[in-house]
Amino acid sequence: MIDHLIPKTLHEALSAMERVHFIKVAGGTDLMVQRRMGPMVEPRFESPVIFLYHLKELNYVKEEDHQLIIGSMTPMEDLLHHPSIPNHFKKVLNDIASPGIRQMATLAGNLANASPAADTLVYLYASRAEILLASLHHERIVPIRDFITGVKKTVLKDNELIKEIHVPLCPCTTFTWTKVGGRKSDAISKVSFVGMAEMSDHHLKKIGIALGAVAPMVISDHAMEDDLQGLSIKELSMRKDAIIKHYASQINPIDDQRSNKTYRRKVAINLLTQFLDELLLKGMTSWTHTLWNILNASYAKKHIP
Ligand SMILES: Cc1cc2nc3c(=O)[nH]c(=O)nc-3n(C[C@H](O)[C@H](O)[C@H](O)COP(=O)(O)OP(=O)(O)OC[C@H]3O[C@@H](n4cnc5c(N)ncnc54)[C@H](O)[C@@H]3O)c2cc1C
Repeated sequence: MIDHLIPKTLHEALSAMERVHFIKVAGGTDLMVQRRMGPMVEPRFESPVIFLYHLKELNYVKEEDHQLIIGSMTPMEDLLHHPSIPNHFKKVLNDIASPGIRQMATLAGNLANASPAADTLVYLYASRAEILLASLHHERIVPIRDFITGVKKTVLKDNELIKEIHVPLCPCTTFTWTKVGGRKSDAISKVSFVGMAEMSDHHLKKIGIALGAVAPMVISDHAMEDDLQGLSIKELSMRKDAIIKHYASQINPIDDQRSNKTYRRKVAINLLTQFLDELLLKGMTSWTHTLWNILNASYAKKHIP
């Protein structure tokens, strides 16, 4: 029986995964910590291990049909410096771990680890990312909301790996990312939040909201977001309290060594409120601006020959 495999190609990896139940290792930054046995002792793995990080076939970033296609073995540090990655996504990546860890850490690992405190998840939920899973004979695309099914649980089958992450590009007019951690870097989030929205003609064209580390899974509600699309600023302002109540009812944090329920709950609600206020303020400012332009134009018409 083999205890590890370093495949030369993706095909070799997928073929071997048809025969053997492997633990898949990307950058190993989660796995090595989870399996550590103490100083000077090798980490212990209960099943054979397959190393994937070196597979160049899975290391790329492309832009297609208004979405990013990210190969699963692209290190986060490469994403941070890639010209196709939008600045708001880079803000999230920049707050993850430290440059050394980001050289190894991958989005795929962050996703497959399925921790509610994983920082990229809030961005990926708010963006409605999709995950391309591949096995030797089959590929399937799974929306992120169906990919993660619980704490540390996903729909990945033994013979499948994450091949790509597809992230729709948002032409956001408002974007907020907040990570509340114990220190500036290398901190696990106490609470994380992403809010993104596109406003046009004083109407909400798109909105994405996701809260992390305050429930067993990231809190995100695509049906609610769809319902908000098309609202005018006035309608949105009338719905503000109901929106906050809706998300607050799903916030169900834990007490742990990093923080407590009461703090997490309060901060999460504050972050959502701030995001909605910013959105409304921007919408009203642009509405006032338009009104000002109309008044100016009619004054000019009447008084300037
Ligand atoms: C010091 C330190 C600081 C950290 N700081 C942060 C932080 O600020 N924010 C944060 O979110 N995380 C943080 N982490 C956690 C970790 O770095 C991230 O979760 C990272 O994205 C994991 O990616 P990886 O490639 O190292 O995954 P790995 O450890 O290799 O794998 C993690 C899981 O994903 C599975 N997996 C990996 N790739 C695939 C694939 N292609 N297909 C199927 N399954 C796959 C593995 O089997 C495993 O279950 C930190 C870790 C350390 C050690």
